[in-house]
Amino acid sequence: MKNDTTNKPYINELVINWHITEACNYNCAYCFAKWGKPNELHRSLEEIEKLLDNLALYFINGQSRLKSELGYETVRLNLAGGEPMMLGSTFFIILMLAKQKGFKTSIITNGHYLVNSRLDFPKNLLDMVGISFDSQDLITRKKIGRVDRKGNSLSFEDLKVALEGLIETQKGIKTKINTVVNSLNYEEDFSSLIGELKPYKWKVLQVMPYGADDLLISNDKFNQFVERHSGLGLPIFAESNSTMTESYLMIDPLGRFYQNSVNACGYKYSDSINQCGVERALSQIAFNPKTFFSRYCQIDIDVLES
Ligand code: SF4
Repeated sequence: MKNDTTNKPYINELVINWHITEACNYNCAYCFAKWGKPNELHRSLEEIEKLLDNLALYFINGQSRLKSELGYETVRLNLAGGEPMMLGSTFFIILMLAKQKGFKTSIITNGHYLVNSRLDFPKNLLDMVGISFDSQDLITRKKIGRVDRKGNSLSFEDLKVALEGLIETQKGIKTKINTVVNSLNYEEDFSSLIGELKPYKWKVLQVMPYGADDLLISNDKFNQFVERHSGLGLPIFAESNSTMTESYLMIDPLGRFYQNSVNACGYKYSDSINQCGVERALSQIAFNPKTFFSRYCQIDIDVLES
């Protein structure tokens, strides 16, 4: 998409993914959220507020390099994990503070605490939700590790209840279902599930090469999955491994930017954003605005088609 006046590429929204905790009640074999450090930033409300202030000052209120390169109008803070809802009331406080400071908000969750929590979700805190759902079959979900210690796993019915609850309490919320395509589910047919739930977007991701190698699939198998679900009027958006590299602005549980890279193994981390400031921290990672741009362009196209 081009900006009419300057002919420069632009996106409407910048998305910052903050992985607020590594803790999770599930144990997916392909999970890359394994930092193994106890000093997560969310333990201090003061540090949380400082981080949100730093991000708002740079990305919303200031004139950042990315703002002039990408020309975004809004900034969305996406809370991910681990499982972000494991933080209970702190999770809601982070969302409230983010709203107050001018962010749009979204979460990526495995959905468990949307249907199994003593805390009610406060009204109108969320602009978007992504719920991970990999299989309609309990045995497959168990093999993947999408199950807690008691054997609970989000079923299709649970997913439906979770989405209906959020649609009722979060005015205008956009709903997304995320499916990681791997060797255990690549032959599964999701068309009637997605057709019935009618999410705003169904994001289909190829399993990344972390953790269990036996879950990996070839690009061909991933493409077959995508083709099989295409042309059916489903809001499918596919992300292969190459578009998933260096395309997200990501913050880890310790409050550092981090990035996976094509050439390097593992992650590259910045210093703590609260200690060195956003601009310095951003310069320490290999953030690629071009990949970021192409990803959001595709999403725009996807929205136009659905
Ligand atoms: S639900 Fe998400 S965070 Fe939890 S283990 Fe699975 S992939 Fe990792």
